Amino acid sequence: MKETQLSFRYLSSATPPLLTLAGLESFDALAAFSLRADLSTALEEEVAHELELQRRDFAFANQIHGDRVAILDRAPDVPPSVDALIAARPGIFPAVQTADCLPILLLDPVHRVTAAIHAGWKSTVLRITRKVLRLLNGEFGTDSSDLIAFMGPAIGTCCYEVDAAVLEPFRKNAPSASRFIVTHEELKSRHGAVGENDGSSRTLGILSRGLNRKPIPPTRPGNQSFRIDLAGVNHFELVLGGVSEQSIYHSGLCTACYPQLFYSYRRDSGQPGRHIAVAGFRVR
Ligand SMILES: [Zn+2]
Repeated sequence: MKETQLSFRYLSSATPPLLTLAGLESFDALAAFSLRADLSTALEEEVAHELELQRRDFAFANQIHGDRVAILDRAPDVPPSVDALIAARPGIFPAVQTADCLPILLLDPVHRVTAAIHAGWKSTVLRITRKVLRLLNGEFGTDSSDLIAFMGPAIGTCCYEVDAAVLEPFRKNAPSASRFIVTHEELKSRHGAVGENDGSSRTLGILSRGLNRKPIPPTRPGNQSFRIDLAGVNHFELVLGGVSEQSIYHSGLCTACYPQLFYSYRRDSGQPGRHIAVAGFRVR
């Protein structure tokens, strides 16, 4: 695979504003994440326009917080009820919609195959990311070490306080779960690192630096004082599946912390808008 230096680019003048991965142009590929925007027209149309695509180039899913994956050789007329989409060829741009859940975009520049994953806690516990990697390997001959992974903004450990209903299945099923459960006390001692991935992957510089980071929100001691690190556990899942640490890019941004930039299901009491995360290869 070509060695390419990638970086996040924040397109504040786009409508809606976009976070895109710069450097993918050399593969005739794109990966983008829409940010909060009050639009009078359809979000899908606007995102497609900004990316110089047609709305019909996008493939969406009817997301159900499960672990089913659809493999597409054309954009579907009816969105399949799945939480991950794999586009078998260039010209199909799989897309997921999120507002706190983690969007993961995977690009295989060798086979020109793309995946988009909607990774909320339920799909993460069902190990949807591992499933997608196995399908890419088995169906397309993808070598995981060739993959480029892009994790968009999602609720961070700073804000993702969970109760036993989430914690127990997470503990039981997520790989190395204990590494990705953060207590109230640990969070306090990690001041400064919350909301950002502190692993060895490359994080977004421009956007993080350009914003005033909020202080850690106050947390309640007691039963609800556990947080889970959705991006962390899915990052680990990718590495377990053979993706190179150096090829996993995180936005490092928490949707709940930045109301000016993002919708948040939790912060907005279940009535948020949605962001679109989309990736794919252009037809040459
Ligand atoms: Zn946060």
